[in-house]
Amino acid sequence: MPTTMPSADLIVERPEGLYCPPGDFYIDPWRPVERAVITHAHADHSRVGHQHYLAAAPAEGVMRSRLGVITLQTLAYGEQIEHHGVRVSLHPAGHVLGSAQVRLEHGGQVWVASGDYYVSGATSDAREDNLTCAAFEPVRCHCFITESTFGLPIYRWQPQHELFADINAWWQANADAGRASLLLGYSFGKAQRILAGVDASIGPIVVHGAVEPLNRAYREAGVRLPETQLVTEVTDKASLRRALAIAPPAVQGSSWARRFDIAGQSASDAFASGWMQLRGARRRRAVDRGFVLSDHADWPGLQRAIGATGAQRVIVTHGYEAVMVRWLQQQGLEAGSFHTEYDDERQDAEPPAAAAPDAAENADGAAATAALPAPPPF
Ligand SMILES: [Zn+2]
Repeated sequence: MPTTMPSADLIVERPEGLYCPPGDFYIDPWRPVERAVITHAHADHSRVGHQHYLAAAPAEGVMRSRLGVITLQTLAYGEQIEHHGVRVSLHPAGHVLGSAQVRLEHGGQVWVASGDYYVSGATSDAREDNLTCAAFEPVRCHCFITESTFGLPIYRWQPQHELFADINAWWQANADAGRASLLLGYSFGKAQRILAGVDASIGPIVVHGAVEPLNRAYREAGVRLPETQLVTEVTDKASLRRALAIAPPAVQGSSWARRFDIAGQSASDAFASGWMQLRGARRRRAVDRGFVLSDHADWPGLQRAIGATGAQRVIVTHGYEAVMVRWLQQQGLEAGSFHTEYDDERQDAEPPAAAAPDAAENADGAAATAALPAPPPF
């Protein structure tokens, strides 16, 4: 049950989700509420059923395509609004297109809720940023609420440019052997990150039908991605022998995937995820290759991001809370954890069938939204 004690905290736990008492709104709630600030459009953070949504402007296309008709107000990164005396602004999180940290200011306190975020732990070299969205921006605050999906010291990502060299070498070797390359990764975020990083001169790039609507949203938001085609659009089937096929993990072993087994030559398959750092996860996936590519910060990245906020108080959510809290306390910080119901990358973070991009596409969400009265100010 929610506490009835008065609290000066700007964000507290409630059964519906993280709640801002003075502002009377939630951040990424998992149960339907009246007002929801959404950090990003992954299914576990951006759910159907809220009456009013507030999100970063670059998230609009993806949110509408996944949630259908919603009452959505958007803010440019850094733009401030005031709601019940709480100043609210959104700042880049570097995770996926439109991902944001939520900054709240009230009564002399500044709190930032990170949502999911990616920042390189090894270097501040801009080439290591997620090139498909605005780079993570540290925001100074008194209290920082951080995710901890990969909050264990074993998680250390190799530099991104080296990883893409490995992916390109795998694709090139397969192409030279007349063998298709099937790379499995989540449709929203991971697939576009792969597209932005590979060398498109090696061969044609084919994407699954769940991936292409998201590619379209990225391109419409100004993100440069190489040319992609659906498998049904490929007229020269022999060209598939040099192709890179990008698809969500659920297609492994399906008839869609078997189209890339050509003339007795089976495709080489690989999976791109932060979990590929674990040998057990690679074995369970039963793929030829595991590429450790994550849209979340690794252990040094989490440390760097937390340090850059200057926060004296840190609240850890979704991931390895106990380990992170202990480490933060050892650094002399006040640290605790919130229980949340986010599970990004712990399952195949695809939208539920009802909100699948294909369904939303047919619903003509844009036209339906235009007929609604303007949303009341958030
Ligand atoms: Zn996410």
